[in-house]
Amino acid sequence: MEGKFSIDVSRARALIEDTLVWDTHSGFMPDPAADFDNLALWTDAGINYLSINVGFDLMPWQDSVRALANFRHRILARPDRYRLVESAADVRAAAAEGKLAVTFDLEGMVALDERIEMVEFYHHLGVRQMHFAYNRNNAAGGGCHDEDCGLTAFGRNVIDEMNRLGMFVDVSHAGYRTSMDVMVHSRAPVIFSHSNAKAIARHGRNITDEQARACAATGGVIGVNGIDLMLGRGAPLTQRMADHIDHLVSVTGPEHVGLGLDFGFPVDVADIDEIVGANPQFWPVEEGYHDGPVRFLAPAQLPEVVGILIGRGYDDTTLRNILGGNFIRVAGEVWK
Ligand SMILES: [Zn+2]
Repeated sequence: MEGKFSIDVSRARALIEDTLVWDTHSGFMPDPAADFDNLALWTDAGINYLSINVGFDLMPWQDSVRALANFRHRILARPDRYRLVESAADVRAAAAEGKLAVTFDLEGMVALDERIEMVEFYHHLGVRQMHFAYNRNNAAGGGCHDEDCGLTAFGRNVIDEMNRLGMFVDVSHAGYRTSMDVMVHSRAPVIFSHSNAKAIARHGRNITDEQARACAATGGVIGVNGIDLMLGRGAPLTQRMADHIDHLVSVTGPEHVGLGLDFGFPVDVADIDEIVGANPQFWPVEEGYHDGPVRFLAPAQLPEVVGILIGRGYDDTTLRNILGGNFIRVAGEVWK
């Protein structure tokens, strides 16, 4: 437990308050029953921007449309708290007004119903980030827990359309080959919205140093997630998260690392475990998904992570970039 009593949480808190903090993926269920008051868990932690997930490949595409319609409606219904943003400038403006900036993301391309025009449809409604696959293969490419089939012709067309419209091409949850194919094909920076380092924790969802370097070479950013299974069980989650950030910074440089906490509401944890338990094809037993309840690093633990990084010698500029500067830079280049 070295450093336990030397973590400068108050300095970390002050830095977070004074920094634009970007969380590039939330993990609560895309269900119209979700309690949006829980978004206070992010805003109270000083987070200024959140990408809210509205679907993943286990869901029929109609359910993703339903979740998007519902979430969009409820974000727009509270202009005092939230702002549905379209650009990096919008995110800065929302932060200046003390409002949570929101866009939506889709995990996997089942939501496209194999129709290219659906990309524009989702973009129009506020989706700014799409993953190629969610653990399993689909019409666009391969998932990380399936046979590594690589990017398909449809997937290449989707990338072209996402580049044209101005959305984050996201290769978290994709298979190795698909992720590398996507990073070669895309004309705009590619991101891993929520992926950790395989060198620190061996898990099929985590990425190799080669993938991390390829992402950085596109100009993209890797968001580190706070799921215990992908952080590597054993040490406190905050220490583990700092280890993953540290490693990725050493591999890609500090301009290509950010946050994608993948945090879900506490009330939903039981539901998530039930869905995971019933769908081992998406969450294989041998990858540890069924070993116990999923634990997440909560947004409120962010000051401790930052405090640990301060203790490891990170300066304020580097920390500000990791907390949000890197992702907003890339959004400025990509989003339209
Ligand atoms: Zn995910």
